[in-house]
Amino acid sequence: MSFKSLGLSEALLKAVSKKGYTAPSPIQQKAIPKVLERKDVLASAQTGTGKTAAFTLPILQILNSGHQLRKRPIRALILTPTRELAAQVMDDVKTYSEFTNCNGTVIFGGVSEKPQIKALRKGVDILVATPGRLLDLQSRNIISLANIEILVLDEADRMLDMGFLRDIKKILAVMPSKRQNLLFSATFSKDIKKLANTFLHHPVMVEATPENTTAEKVNQLIYRTNKSKKTKLVTKLIDEGDWQQVLVFTRTKHGANRLSQKLDKAGITALAIHGNKSQGARTKALAGFKSGKTRVLVATDIAARGLDIPLLPHVINYELPNVPEDYVHRIGRTGRAGASGQAISIVSVDEDEYVRGIEKLLDERLESETIPGFEVTETLKEVLDKKAENKVKHRASRKQSQKKKPFKGSNRRRKK
Ligand code: AMP
Repeated sequence: MSFKSLGLSEALLKAVSKKGYTAPSPIQQKAIPKVLERKDVLASAQTGTGKTAAFTLPILQILNSGHQLRKRPIRALILTPTRELAAQVMDDVKTYSEFTNCNGTVIFGGVSEKPQIKALRKGVDILVATPGRLLDLQSRNIISLANIEILVLDEADRMLDMGFLRDIKKILAVMPSKRQNLLFSATFSKDIKKLANTFLHHPVMVEATPENTTAEKVNQLIYRTNKSKKTKLVTKLIDEGDWQQVLVFTRTKHGANRLSQKLDKAGITALAIHGNKSQGARTKALAGFKSGKTRVLVATDIAARGLDIPLLPHVINYELPNVPEDYVHRIGRTGRAGASGQAISIVSVDEDEYVRGIEKLLDERLESETIPGFEVTETLKEVLDKKAENKVKHRASRKQSQKKKPFKGSNRRRKK
């Protein structure tokens, strides 16, 4: 199948071919004609399937074919859960709109609003936004959503996970009720279905075919070891394999910081990316990683969601996620666009139940190996006892440091 046969205009075909795509991905084949028919769409697709183009291309065609309004009110809104994803979607909007008369801009929190407001004042057709900044500017009448014709909720499952349901409802309330709605989600929980029911009208359901799921293109392997040996094992794998671009996942922000520092010390350039980092630091870390300056990016699930790093050869799960779907998202960072990738999970005995959950979801057994010198010598009971002990110690040291800390402002008074 060709992009042309999907009914896309010359301007869009030119952009797609300039980008180097030869054929539409399955989600694009299914979604593009439906969006062009002006149907509401409920799409099941993860990052890596080409979902962004699946909604961006037809939206551009629809907006470009109508008559241009002089004031350029916002006519399409794409909501995303994270700033990084918003920026990436915007990059795609820019790429695909090159030969059209449409323009777009992106807004998200954590950075100055001034340039965003300036761009909005010039008039935009497509707005890519995270919910918080959008509501902020909308409530101050800087943005009007009164002319929205098409709404996209991208990665809707993650938006709900991040607690954006109330914000989404507020946004829906300030838009015209007659509009086209597209909901893209990697998973379909009860909550997603409920949300879909509240605002989609007779939606067409489309999904990326199972043959195309990233999990199947990725070579997955588990290395079992003791908890205390994980860092050493990760360092050895990266070092001896001479891996130059590795994305490592940890469960916590502290864990991400600790591991990136240890890797750095071992001579492997690494940076952590998570929700506590400023927007500037996150963008810089991602740029450094993409350019090859930083070999390892250590990320938490939320921070990594939607990162567009094409053809990533290696993903390591330093710790497994307790939600099996997150595992699929994580390994979806590798093996993109037909290239094969490798996803390695470093698993300690206390993570066995997560392995079982993942195997159940994927409906396959994951291959498991041990590297000499890294054999498992601890029992589950030992690990759990140690965890409990650490928790008590951590609590005690927190209490101690809180006692020591004078309450706010007292320092200044004492100095006087
Ligand atoms: P997405 O799922 O939208 O995050 O896209 C994942 C990656 O696939 C991005 O790097 C896109 O540029 C790329 N991509 C999207 N559509 C195609 C296509 N039809 N052929 C090849 N690559 C594509």
